[in-house]
Amino acid sequence: MFEANEDYLKLPGSYLFSTVAKKAAAYQKAHPEAKIIRMGIGDVTQPLPPAVIKALHRAVDEMADAETFRGYAPDLGYDFLRKAMAENDYRARGCDIADDEIFISDGAKSDSGNIQEIFQRDNVLAVCDPVYPVYVDSNVMAGRTGTYDEKTTRWSNVIYMPCTEENGFAPDFPEKTPDFIYLCSPNNPTGTALTKDQLQGWVDYANRNGAVIIFDAAYEAYIHDDNVPHSIFECRGARTCAIEIRSFSKNAGFTGLRLGATVIPKDLVDHNKTPLWNLWARRHGTKYNGAPYIVQRAGEACYTEEGKQEIRDMVGRYMHNASFIRRSLLDMGFAAYGGVNSPYIWLKTPDSMTSWEFFDKLLAQANVIGTPGSGFGPSGEHFFRLTAFGSEENSVEAMERIRKMV
Ligand code: PLP
Repeated sequence: MFEANEDYLKLPGSYLFSTVAKKAAAYQKAHPEAKIIRMGIGDVTQPLPPAVIKALHRAVDEMADAETFRGYAPDLGYDFLRKAMAENDYRARGCDIADDEIFISDGAKSDSGNIQEIFQRDNVLAVCDPVYPVYVDSNVMAGRTGTYDEKTTRWSNVIYMPCTEENGFAPDFPEKTPDFIYLCSPNNPTGTALTKDQLQGWVDYANRNGAVIIFDAAYEAYIHDDNVPHSIFECRGARTCAIEIRSFSKNAGFTGLRLGATVIPKDLVDHNKTPLWNLWARRHGTKYNGAPYIVQRAGEACYTEEGKQEIRDMVGRYMHNASFIRRSLLDMGFAAYGGVNSPYIWLKTPDSMTSWEFFDKLLAQANVIGTPGSGFGPSGEHFFRLTAFGSEENSVEAMERIRKMV
């Protein structure tokens, strides 16, 4: 008989962003006149690039014709998209990745939540603290937990690597070697990015210790500094220790369209010498029936010259907001990080307020919503995340309101 995994029940009652949304809805209900500015959830606001819209229309028309109609997509992805990604995201950067090492999916949330299925149940994982909640929660749901400490609300099979002001939000190597490690750069939520040397250090550490790095590159398009790698496969030796997860959501505005990919080199094996590529192909083939044809054609359009330019413009507009928000907060006397290679700004709450106290104050006094840092892990306490995904007008208005509040 199926028994509920008890650890599952110890997870917070709802996903962080659902809690934020509920609080915002309750405030709006009580104050119907309030014009709330949403800088909480990391959702994009600009429409899809015209090249993507054109590709969608073309693909829809193909579906209306018996000659060109497509049914089930290949579960690992259409060759045209895998090739476009391999050429543009990897080989153009000197990364040795073959087309068939790329598995197309419906996004990075599913992939980063599901990838743990190809690791052993008793494996130990390491995550940054603060962390994108999916990494830990999906492992807990799978029962990869060990013992639970009520006080710290932590599981013994999870190594938490603090990312603090002191270490520049770049984690130190853990004392005990994990079997697999989640790294996200540019980082959600801290908005900071690992340099080439720092990421090379992690690749060397993983190869030395037989660990696998799961590298989440969802925010790769926001990188501006030359010394920040766009892919972990820019590092020497990454083929034997790394998996990379990519998303079209923040790069090209696909949050509602849904498209992503996971890259697993064929050289990468687990402790039993089983290629992880084979395990993921087996898993994907069993539980996933392929991203829609029309969406994969839309993804392909992102790699045309027109698509690339439109995406650069779109990201540029968000980054204009990011740098404005960052500068405004610094100017108001906040300690603020991120916003240079990332659409996220990570600010320290004033007067030692807790993250949730600051959330309530900001909502009540400025009608601005952000995300409490503590929701991403204990090291996020006394921090707060704002996003640059809104309009320029709203970003300016929000900063004016915060300036009046402090
Ligand atoms: N990974 C990180 C670090 C994210 O912040 C997000 C979304 O906010 C995702 C993955 C999810 O991306 P997708 O929309 O492709 O599922």
